[in-house]
Amino acid sequence: MRFSRLRLSGFKSFVDPTELVIQDGLTGVVGPNGCGKSNLLEALRWVMGENRPTAMRGGGMEDVIFAGAASRPARNFAEVTLTIDNAERLAPAGFNDADQLEIVRRITRDAGSAYKANGKETRARDVAMLFADASTGSQSPALVRQGQISELINAKPKARRRVLEDAAGIGGLYQRRHEAELKLKNTETNLTRVDDVVEGLA
Ligand code: ATP
Repeated sequence: MRFSRLRLSGFKSFVDPTELVIQDGLTGVVGPNGCGKSNLLEALRWVMGENRPTAMRGGGMEDVIFAGAASRPARNFAEVTLTIDNAERLAPAGFNDADQLEIVRRITRDAGSAYKANGKETRARDVAMLFADASTGSQSPALVRQGQISELINAKPKARRRVLEDAAGIGGLYQRRHEAELKLKNTETNLTRVDDVVEGLA
């Protein structure tokens, strides 16, 4: 799966709809300080599911919405669309019915954020799984922030192993294991409840 297009509207400094075509090969973003280069990378993280305001350099998630400027009022929503080339049909089941996959995340003030995949409402965890299976995602080590290299050099072995595991493409398995463990826990709780009821009837 290859990212082919990133579209932003009302996201941070990108108040007007802006589209970036991501072509084959290396893509460089250059521009003067403060022109929005980091905001682009944050848009990419955000559409892939980033939910930590600090990772978006904000105090709350709604801080990604254009906050207004001297000549323009604030916007009420922000939307980022990531288009993925799926011609080789590598997307996981549930997302794999078209040559092109379009993931949209939209946040509206006081109403939270929602996702769509090719026009259909989609759960955040399914979007996270899609990107985890593709060995990427909002916390992918492929997206290198300022200061991250020195963090990695000083990281504990377990954290470094995670980077290698992500590169090996097993991030999705971790997420599935986590979900299976949660289900198991719920089932155990239900069984305990059933035992209590049976005991009460005896
Ligand atoms: P540098 O080269 O200095 O790292 P940059 O090109 O990466 O800069 P960004 O940090 O992406 O620039 O963009 C910063 C700009 O985005 C600032 O002008 C800031 O005011 C603007 N900005 C950030 N959040 C919002 C928001 N919610 N609404 C409007 N503008 C915003």
